[in-house]
Amino acid sequence: MDIFTEMSLNDLSELVKRDKKQLQSLIKKLKKLNKRELDAFVHSLHESYFADTDCLQCANCCKSLGPMITDHDINRMAKRLKMKPGVFTETYLEQDEKGYFVFQTLRCPFLMDDNYCMIYEARPKACREYPHTDMVNFQQILNISLKNTETCPVVYKIMKALEAKYG
Ligand code: SF4
Ligand code: SF4
Repeated sequence: MDIFTEMSLNDLSELVKRDKKQLQSLIKKLKKLNKRELDAFVHSLHESYFADTDCLQCANCCKSLGPMITDHDINRMAKRLKMKPGVFTETYLEQDEKGYFVFQTLRCPFLMDDNYCMIYEARPKACREYPHTDMVNFQQILNISLKNTETCPVVYKIMKALEAKYG
């Protein structure tokens, strides 16, 4: 079943608030698991849930999170837009408190009204990899993933499946 038939993004923020304490204690348990066993289970969930998810119905990550942007990303995006990297940086980017480049606006400037990405082929690496639930050693990003439940319904669903198995 498509994830957005199960829950809306409004439901998501209520569900995450409701489950906050249980999810925090789940994270503590997951930190003690065998890394490979955890990866195998999370990666299978990632595959099956994203197979049923149309991100174009959501785009919540593009609306509410700012990806970290590397020099490679800047060069690729600038080339796609036929701009000089310096002009691209001045037009679209700023540095956060840690000195990383991020977009000037939290809703990404390249997100179109139909939720398509205007620079999809040239999008930042962080956009390609979000929400990282297929990365090797998922255990390393448990705290970030807990935070990502607030944004991404798939991450929330993965956490609930982990809770059903290990909670
Ligand atoms: S660059 Fe594209 S994928 Fe990345 S946040 Fe913007 S719209 Fe989304
Ligand atoms: S928040 Fe998750 S489900 Fe929504 S568009 Fe981003 S990756 Fe897809």
